[in-house]
Parts: sequence; C-alpha cells; structure tokens
Amino acid sequence: MIFSKSPDYFQVAQGVWGARILFVNVYFIANRRGFPKGWVLVDAGIQGSAQRIISVAESIFGTGAKPSAIILTHAHSDHTGALEELLKHWDVPVYAHEYEVPYLTGKSSYPPSDPTVGEGMMSLMSVFFRKEPIDISNNIRIIDTEGGIPELPEWRVIHTPGHTPGHVSFFLSLNTTLIAGDAFVATKQESAIYTISNIKKLSGPPRYMTTDWVAAEASVKVLSLLEPRIAGTGHGPVLRGRELQESLRNLAENFVELAVPKGGRYAEKPAEADETGTYYIPPFRSTTKFKAVAGLLGALAGFAITKALVK
Ligand SMILES: [Zn+2]
Ligand SMILES: [Zn+2]
Repeated sequence: MIFSKSPDYFQVAQGVWGARILFVNVYFIANRRGFPKGWVLVDAGIQGSAQRIISVAESIFGTGAKPSAIILTHAHSDHTGALEELLKHWDVPVYAHEYEVPYLTGKSSYPPSDPTVGEGMMSLMSVFFRKEPIDISNNIRIIDTEGGIPELPEWRVIHTPGHTPGHVSFFLSLNTTLIAGDAFVATKQESAIYTISNIKKLSGPPRYMTTDWVAAEASVKVLSLLEPRIAGTGHGPVLRGRELQESLRNLAENFVELAVPKGGRYAEKPAEADETGTYYIPPFRSTTKFKAVAGLLGALAGFAITKALVK
C-alpha cells in the first residue's frame, strides 16, 4: 500500500483535521453545532489517493461518511488528482473560484511549470505533473467570494491569487484558523528533502508552479494581516502561534527576497488569466533554456526516485 507509511490524519483545530498524502495535504472541516450539519473536504490530493481520503473521512466521521461539498483552494493536479475518482464515490458539488473553473471544465491549461527556479528535486519533478484540465462540469459550482460557501457558512473565503489566478484561502475568525492552500506553504516545496521528510519551514508559494509573483506577494500580505494562530497549508506540517505569526509577517515584509525566484520564466512578467483561462504566457527566454535541459535530466532522476519511494 503506497501511502501506509504516513500517519492516518492529524488535528488542525477543533472540527478541522488534515491528512498528508505523500507530499500534499487535504483537510476535513466540520461545521460547528448550531450550523448546518455536515463537513466538507478541502482539496483532493494526488492521483490514486481517493481510497485513502475516503478511509480517513470514515475514521473521523464514521462509516459511510460523505461530505456535503468538496472545496478547492486551486486546481493544480496535486490538489485535484483524486477528484474524479472521489466524485464516483461521493456525487457532491465541487466549489472553486471562477478563475480556476477553466482548468476543471476542460477549457484551458495552466501555463507550463518552470523547472529552472527551484533548488531540488520537486522543481524538477514538476514537469511530470498533469497540466491538462480535467472536466468535472457536472459538479462544479463557482465560489461566491462575498457570500461564502453555503455548506461552510462560518468560514470566510479569501481570493489569494498569484500561485494560480483563482487561488482561494479559507479563514475562521472565531479561532483565527487559516487554510492557506499554496498561497504560502509550511515546507520548502522545491526541495525533495524538506518535502519528503515534512520538515517545517514557512515559505512562499511553490516556485515552479507560481505564475504571478506580484499577486502572490499581495496575497501573503492579506493573509498576514489576519494574524492567524493556526495555519494548515497545502504542503508541510500545521503552523501555530507566535512562530506562525512572526514568520508569516517576515515573509510578507521580505517577500521578494525570500520567495521570488531570481530569474526564471515568471519572475519578471506574470502569466495572465481570467474566467476563460490562460491568455498570456511570457516567452521562455533563451538564458533559461540551458537550465531547463539540466532540469529535465534531473527530473528523470527525480522521477525514478519517486517511483522507488512510493512502492
Ligand atoms: Zn499548487
Ligand atoms: Zn500544491
């Protein structure tokens, strides 16, 4: 069983749990007493993890448990890999920001990842991530960022673009719990050692897949101003307390230095997108071509190692 080494799930806050699937997290959020009964799943892991997600849900909520909705921070393939499989088991609405919908309805593809901007294996491996859109048109619902999500009435939805155009984060002001997706993450996602060992380090959004750094900086500033006491992100362990607030403030204040890659395809010019999908991709400059070839060779090695790891 490829995921058996990870612990089953972990508690994030009251009514909020997470599960780590190889290198990406999914979250389970239950509504409090006095609100509509039920729970939602946030994000849908990597391909092949549907059974793992279902069994964690049943451990938390009981046999046969079914979410009232699935909510996506964004539609990258490591956050939507098990989505189609899950929908066969749970035919529920899937909420996403309207700028993510083109990647969930077969209309558009994300801009290519940039394998030259990371420091290690994960960046190199990113060339193997699925970039073609899936089509779950029958289940998709556009998130109303003002009104929130009916199935999760107490949580605020915050548009936090940059990593992707329609990236959103979720915030419960009652106990300042933040589910931040990949707006910032809790490990160095570009580094294979950090990622596989789940080493804690508050970092900017994963570099190889982030296509608008100006927007990403603004989003981190917005999230920092919320002063969350608990944050569950797409990658890495849960962050808490003063350590979280200080390192998030530090990232917001020194974002260019700490998070933005030097050079690389999207560092100077962002890719552009709207509700119709991607409409501008900055050209791949020749200076980055050499690094890309090196990246590709590394990626092949990375892929082989990953294959061995998940056996
Ligand atoms: Zn992502
Ligand atoms: Zn991610």
